[in-house]
Amino acid sequence: MIDLDGTLRESHSGQLYFQNPQDQQIIAGADIALNTYQENWTIVGITNQGGVAAGHKTIQTCIQEQQYTLQLVSLLKEIYFCPDFEGKKCFRVTRHNAHNHSQTKWSGQYRKPQAGMLKLAMVRYNHSPEDCVYVGDRPEDEEAARRAGVAFEWAEDWITRHQTITTPI
Ligand SMILES: [Mg+2]
Repeated sequence: MIDLDGTLRESHSGQLYFQNPQDQQIIAGADIALNTYQENWTIVGITNQGGVAAGHKTIQTCIQEQQYTLQLVSLLKEIYFCPDFEGKKCFRVTRHNAHNHSQTKWSGQYRKPQAGMLKLAMVRYNHSPEDCVYVGDRPEDEEAARRAGVAFEWAEDWITRHQTITTPI
């Protein structure tokens, strides 16, 4: 499981917020790190999208943004995002669809640092916390992983670790 903004992707324009769904690029080295995972790993994105609640973008734009990321990153299976500050809502985006998971027992716990999105993803794939890892760039990512019982790795370390392995001598 991987955080997206600041971990896997950044804006192409250099602005803090994406100006449109296509205003994004993969962070240097993150693609290399991701590509080291074997096929028996399931890789999903987990992202707070409070920009929806803040009025910076609509749910539909946010879904398009996730689908563009899925286009850019073929190894990413799907993306979970929480659009509200109360953590009540969660959408799961695949390349062609979006599913609303707001009516579950985790409603109210979706926004990181709460662990609802990580737990939902683990249940969907029938994975135990000890078989999972979460990569992120912020303290709320680390806290969400802790609450889910999942190992955490800082994005910077994750990228550096894989670059070291793949750098020719
Ligand atoms: Mg982030």
